[in-house]
Amino acid sequence: MTDLLSAVERAGVVGCGGAGFPTHAKYNTVAELLLINAAECEPLLGTDRYLVREKAAEICEAAESVRAHLGASEAVIALKKTYRAEIEALSAALLPYPTLRMHLLRSFYPAGDEQTLVFEVTGRTVPPGALPGAVGCVVSNAATLYAVWHALHGRAFTQKYITINGAVSKPCILKTPVGTSFADCLAAAGGSTVRDYIVVSGGPMMGKVFGGEETAELAVSKTTSGFPLLPKDARMAQYAVLNERQTINRARAACIQCSFCTGLCPRRLLGHPLEPHRIMRRISSSDWRGTLPHDSVLQSAALCCECGICELYACPMQLQPRKINALIKQEMRAQNIKPPPFNIDQSLPEFRDERKVPTKRAAARAGVGGYYGEVPMCFAELHPQEVSIALNSHIGAPAEPIVSVGGRVEHGQLIARPPSGALGACYHASISGIITNINNKITIHV
Ligand code: SF4
Ligand code: SF4
Repeated sequence: MTDLLSAVERAGVVGCGGAGFPTHAKYNTVAELLLINAAECEPLLGTDRYLVREKAAEICEAAESVRAHLGASEAVIALKKTYRAEIEALSAALLPYPTLRMHLLRSFYPAGDEQTLVFEVTGRTVPPGALPGAVGCVVSNAATLYAVWHALHGRAFTQKYITINGAVSKPCILKTPVGTSFADCLAAAGGSTVRDYIVVSGGPMMGKVFGGEETAELAVSKTTSGFPLLPKDARMAQYAVLNERQTINRARAACIQCSFCTGLCPRRLLGHPLEPHRIMRRISSSDWRGTLPHDSVLQSAALCCECGICELYACPMQLQPRKINALIKQEMRAQNIKPPPFNIDQSLPEFRDERKVPTKRAAARAGVGGYYGEVPMCFAELHPQEVSIALNSHIGAPAEPIVSVGGRVEHGQLIARPPSGALGACYHASISGIITNINNKITIHV
């Protein structure tokens, strides 16, 4: 079924769950099980839920095509048991497909973490540092499957569904061309309800914080799932402004080694040898960069999925083990350090059920409980006058433009493609218009 791979590659589909791995490369394998992630565990996002509710037939049709391509015996769509309308929509859409089924999850965070999801559905633990393929699984999220459905019908990946939620007048799901500015999205949501705010690209637990002038540059990319707005004094905003020195100094001065961060870490609860409290102790050394090549505790930061449970939920001292792990990973890349092979502790998953963090409680502790609730049912489709399409919103080499400033492009036309032989993704015009600028983005004006 190379037809499926080439259709998905031509359409420029990348994983919509956050990382943006090119989907044709992910599907270039065989697997026992296709796992479709519709858990959407981030507290304020409702995009995947919307798609499962409104596009269940399309998602199931694509899931069956991908399942057959992978040679998998079944495809499982995993979602939370509290998603009643979505379960109803899926139940009807699944009827023609005996090889597709649902798996219902408890509402805990991070149910949608890829490795947690594999364990919940199959009981198999992805080995530390490995991918789900190591236990026979391919995982894609619901929005990716919807993009695959379009690709199989000859349409490029040019439209995104996103959630705009939090401190806005009209929380809603938006259908937007890739490259739509945050300002256009905010206007569609009726504007902000607070004077000073931050914007989180992604969810409030794992997303990236943008504030002030940064928001002027913010636009919908192929991997954007939502733009929660939060008041400027939100906990995430306070953490985001701390630099590396301040973050490490706070860890040195205030970590009481209570190990709550380790006790609740979802990767630790899968048996992975990740103990953030030990990493916090090691980072206190003034020469941690020098000892990093020989220190397997520091290197175990590579196993962190950056879910934020340790810093937004567990730590009583308001420290940032997640940020420190991200810092160590960055330094490992700079020093070209490959993580050593890690072993699984098979005894740990026995008590993991009691330590699952209810999503509602995670939202409350992260300071966004006031915005937590039913996902927005309101829907709007945007038709912006201008889009700026980032050419590097995927894993791999940035795409190279094949159009010129001043030229006219039509919606769906190929405008950039990966360098020859490199892992990457194609990009297409998300609106018809004139190219007005090209740098690491292509700007099109109607
Ligand atoms: S962010 Fe914290 S809780 Fe989450 S995986 Fe990393 S260390 Fe564990
Ligand atoms: S929870 Fe906070 S104080 Fe306790 S060990 Fe972890 S980082 Fe240190």
